[in-house]
Formats: sequence, C-alpha cells, structure tokens
Amino acid sequence: MTDATPARKPIIAIDGPAGAGKSTVARHLAARFGLLNLESGAMYRAFARKALDSGVAPDHPEALKALARTTTIALEPTPDGNRVLLDGVDVTASLRDPAVTQAASRVSVHPAIRSWMVDLQRAMGRNGGIVMEGRDIGTVVFPDAEIKFFLDASPEARSQRRYLETPSAAATPEALHEELRKRDERDRNRAESPLRPAPDAIVIDSTELTLDQVLARIESVVIERLGVRVSGS
Ligand code: C5P
Repeated sequence: MTDATPARKPIIAIDGPAGAGKSTVARHLAARFGLLNLESGAMYRAFARKALDSGVAPDHPEALKALARTTTIALEPTPDGNRVLLDGVDVTASLRDPAVTQAASRVSVHPAIRSWMVDLQRAMGRNGGIVMEGRDIGTVVFPDAEIKFFLDASPEARSQRRYLETPSAAATPEALHEELRKRDERDRNRAESPLRPAPDAIVIDSTELTLDQVLARIESVVIERLGVRVSGS
C-alpha cells in the first residue's frame, strides 16, 4: 500500500544564543535554496510588544496567558524580509527596541507562552520548505528537522558584532555585552526548553570564523544532505 500523504518539504533549524549570526545565516540559506525564512524570535518580540502596550508585566504568567488568548501573530514574507503582524498591525519597525528585546527575553520563560508559540510555529512550518531560527527549534519545535545547526560564538565576539551592526550612542559595547549575558543566562537556565544544541545538531562556533567561512560550511552541509534541488516553492 502506498502512502497518499505527500512528503513534506525539508526543514532547516538554526538555534543559538543572541548575536551568533543566526538571522544572517537563515536569510542567506532561504535566498540560496528557495526556502521560507521564519524568525521565531520575532514572534516572542511581537508578543512582548503587546504585553508592554497593554501594561502586562512580563513576569506575570496568568495575565500573559490571558493576553495570549486575544493575540494573533503572523509573519508575512516580503522581498525585504518578513513583516510581523500583531493583531493585524505591522509592528516590524519597533521589534528591535531595547525595551521589547528585554521583555521578549522575559515573557519567553513562561511555559504557557512557549507552548502557544510552539503550536503557532509548527502550524507555520507544517508544509516544510522553511528555515526557522530561534532557541528551541531543533530541540522542541521541529525535532524531526532534516538539518539542525547550532551557531555559537564567544560572548565577546557576539556583543562586538551586535555593536558593529547597530552602533548607537545609547548602547556602549559594555552595555550590549551585559544585555546579551542576561538574555543568554535566562535562555540557558529556564526550566522549559532551555537553549541547548539538539543531540543531532551540527555545532558551529564562529568566534574565529568570518561570515563567508560560516556560510560556506553551512551551505556545503545543506548541499550534501539535501542536494541542490532544495526548494520551498
Ligand atoms: O532571536 P531574538 O533575539 O529575536 O529573540 C528574542 C527573545 O525571544 C530571545 O532573547 C529569547 O529569549 C526568546 N526566544 C525564545 N525562543 C525562540 C526564539 C526566541 O525563547 N525560539
């Protein structure tokens, strides 16, 4: 008997701490192999935006859970990247605000919020043909992903790169370093789906690598595992 269910297209999971280069790599892979790029962090950020706008404290799980029930979050692909729609409104431009970054790190520790997000992320990626980046994609959201990367780099290298990406008078390298350290600590130590490489993830430490070297290594793994015919379309 043949299985009538069409095979789903491949899923590439990219996890790792803040500033490790996940977004750059995900964007590159999506463009190179015709995959849809889904940033799970943007979804936590959008919900954090809503919590801030609604005056709900990021450490109040019951109130956050109630808020989640009346919240819709969608990622809408455009040629310049995803637009993030929160209750139908485009909030993309405000998601990198330091207050939102802080709040996203805090709302994401709550199990009820995570399980809601995981359901949303699975629904978005159910047909495959995607690269999804985050903290728990290879371990929890898509443990059956065809390829899992875990990108890492020393805390110093990560905060330095972040600083060069977004130089601003308000954020000194030291302040950025401290912010990344706190977010890492929360991500790695939370009880629910802490940040860690899946047992079958390919770990790449880019501390001593250039972006081109990282991209070349990642591309060669994708080509070897999936062939060059990968396409989300
Ligand atoms: O990746 P990004 O920095 O945009 O994520 C914002 C925050 O959302 C992170 O600091 C992390 O705490 C949380 N997050 C998460 N799980 C994911 C993606 C992001 O907990 N899959």
